[in-house]
Amino acid sequence: MSTYNPYDNVLETIRNAASILGLAESDYATTMYPERELKVSFPVMMDDGTVKIFEGYRVQHSSSRGPCKGGIRYHQDVNIDEVKALAAWMTFKCAVVGIPYGGAKGAVKVDPSKLSSAELQRLTRRYTAMIAPLIGPDQDIPAPDVNTNGQVMGWIMDTYSMLKGHAIPGVVTGKPIEIGGSLGRVEATGRGVMITTRESLKKLGIPADKARVAIQGMGNVGSISAKLIAELGAKIVAVSDVSGGLYSSEGLNISAIREYLSVRGRLLKDYNEPGVNHITNQELITCGADVLVPAAMENQITEKNAADIQVKVIVEGANGPTTVAADKILEEKGIVVVPDILANAGGVVVSYFEWVQNLQSLVWDEDEVNKTLNRIMCKAIDEVFDLHTEKKITLRASAYCLALKKLVTAKNIRGIFP
Ligand code: GLU
Repeated sequence: MSTYNPYDNVLETIRNAASILGLAESDYATTMYPERELKVSFPVMMDDGTVKIFEGYRVQHSSSRGPCKGGIRYHQDVNIDEVKALAAWMTFKCAVVGIPYGGAKGAVKVDPSKLSSAELQRLTRRYTAMIAPLIGPDQDIPAPDVNTNGQVMGWIMDTYSMLKGHAIPGVVTGKPIEIGGSLGRVEATGRGVMITTRESLKKLGIPADKARVAIQGMGNVGSISAKLIAELGAKIVAVSDVSGGLYSSEGLNISAIREYLSVRGRLLKDYNEPGVNHITNQELITCGADVLVPAAMENQITEKNAADIQVKVIVEGANGPTTVAADKILEEKGIVVVPDILANAGGVVVSYFEWVQNLQSLVWDEDEVNKTLNRIMCKAIDEVFDLHTEKKITLRASAYCLALKKLVTAKNIRGIFP
């Protein structure tokens, strides 16, 4: 068992930003503690008639800048410290891109691939009922995360609406279009990763159409990032999923791989094409490329492999892929790390557009969604790079300084109740 605790990483990153800004502990102490943590245990009737008990969480880290916001993850290894970290990252993410939300995260400890669709639906509905006192369009708005999707959001929306007695689409984002989802939401996180990659390469003077890119993770974020970054003219030389990875120095055929995965699920290890070599996830991280996009889980780039990383730029599509210890090694090596709270913010930005559309009962076209996402992302990327240059700090420190300043200001304006 590793002793890695992602929430300790969060605290260290916040403390570092606070010391750069010269803040006293009392100024930013509230950002170090989640406002609320809910742990639930609940029964689900399995298809064979037996009853299983599942454990779930919802953590609201901050509501200083607006309602709490953040996804729901289904994963067999999830624990409260991970959910606390994920909730805190949402707070900082929403602050750095300037959307009016705090941060939250939820999770159920389950491997959803082991459940039937009917079991998954019952689990989702009961979990929703258990966290219903905390969520709502003005309070806390869930969304998809690892192993959850539009269908799961649809069940959450329906369960919450049934409990309240009328349709409340704004309680959750990432819904299917037919029930109030936003055009562009499915692609939004990957699109944000692409925009961040494109703008960062521009600032670093690396032509995108010459860049060689390795992407860890072929879920929603990784696969859409791969598609859109390839459309910039970059060569995607490596991709991976939980089963393993693929490498081709000539560049992989991303549309063929995406097509294969849509039919076969997570089985890249069985994908065969001439000129394509099979590699492990570790080999993907240290392979020769210009850009690495970790788009899977936390704790992938650690002090164990950071020294072997060869890329010029890391764009964090996942939440928390790099440990604090690894960050220091990468900084010494001169590798630029574009932090998660900026790079993967596209998802929550379009979640915000979805929520705004739901509250106003109107529908934006896809072009408006993508244009507004691009504008918000580019502004935040400029701000983070500008402060990084001005203060000679890492991009992560810069992003956290910008976000922390907004959080502290909001807290000071609101004051302390009572
Ligand atoms: N789960 C995504 C994230 O980590 C999206 C959250 C949201 O849209 O609320 O940013």
